[in-house]
Amino acid sequence: MMIAKQKPRCSLGMFLILFLGLSMGIVAQEIRLALIPENPRLGEPVTIGLTGAGADTKLWAELINAQGRRLSRASFFSLTLDGASVKAAILAVPCTSRPGPALIRVQQDSGSIGEMNITIMPRDFVSEEIALDQNNTELRTVADPQKTAEANTLWAILSRTGTDLYTTEAFKPPVTATRRTSFFGDRRVYKYVDGSRDTAIHAGIDYGVPTGTAVTACAPGKVVLARSRIVTGNSVILEHLPGVYSLYYHLDKIEVQEGTLVKGGDRLGQSGATGLATGPHLHWEIRVAGENTDPDACIAHAVLDKDALLSKLIPIH
Ligand SMILES: [Zn+2]
Repeated sequence: MMIAKQKPRCSLGMFLILFLGLSMGIVAQEIRLALIPENPRLGEPVTIGLTGAGADTKLWAELINAQGRRLSRASFFSLTLDGASVKAAILAVPCTSRPGPALIRVQQDSGSIGEMNITIMPRDFVSEEIALDQNNTELRTVADPQKTAEANTLWAILSRTGTDLYTTEAFKPPVTATRRTSFFGDRRVYKYVDGSRDTAIHAGIDYGVPTGTAVTACAPGKVVLARSRIVTGNSVILEHLPGVYSLYYHLDKIEVQEGTLVKGGDRLGQSGATGLATGPHLHWEIRVAGENTDPDACIAHAVLDKDALLSKLIPIH
């Protein structure tokens, strides 16, 4: 009899608490996060999955180093996985970061809603010295308002996080030849004609291919730039995922137009030596949330691996 009397009171109490909680918006859904990979090397992309956050909240992910400094950030976008609504953000570990412990923090305007530890793994980069002739020296050193305008246009494209998912597959190399004349993350020293020097990081891979070699799309995407630029010559940029772009520089001929959709393997143009180039080659570069990213990492694994994302979501406390 005691039990029979207590049951209705208990249920009513729980119902009232739940009702009050819901009406006041204080029943928090569990936040779950996924990091792929958890131990990225310098220059590699990191995909962050998130569930349990407010659907309409503006959210972004930050990579924070052990000193508390922000190394990179990326906005979250929405996708549906197996019928479930998930958010994802894709950022990259800058190739100039210091290896070691770091963390991924998920932020909204009112502050952090969760974080996970991450370890940045080291890797070696090649050092190289490149002597530039008069023409190439001027391309790098002479101030030019058009060069500045082109740089601003490029940054506006690369810093944009769209909403379209054109591919969830791993990328394929943009030429069939495998000979590389420069590598991702090379520490470069440019020697100018007057004997002065400047340093730079090589942002992509250079394939040493003759002028006229077919250059193909590394994955399905949208042509967001196809035009001549002063420094990079005839250039094509494809958008593949929110904030994820592939870039093809120094082309002899461009064979696509801005705004069109391409499939992986479609011809984009022919390689050449336009812009700042010491010989015919294809410069192929990947940008993730504005950051130079290792193309080989995007060939080895899909940048947005849907299955892995769903299976790795774990609660954050
Ligand atoms: Zn290059």
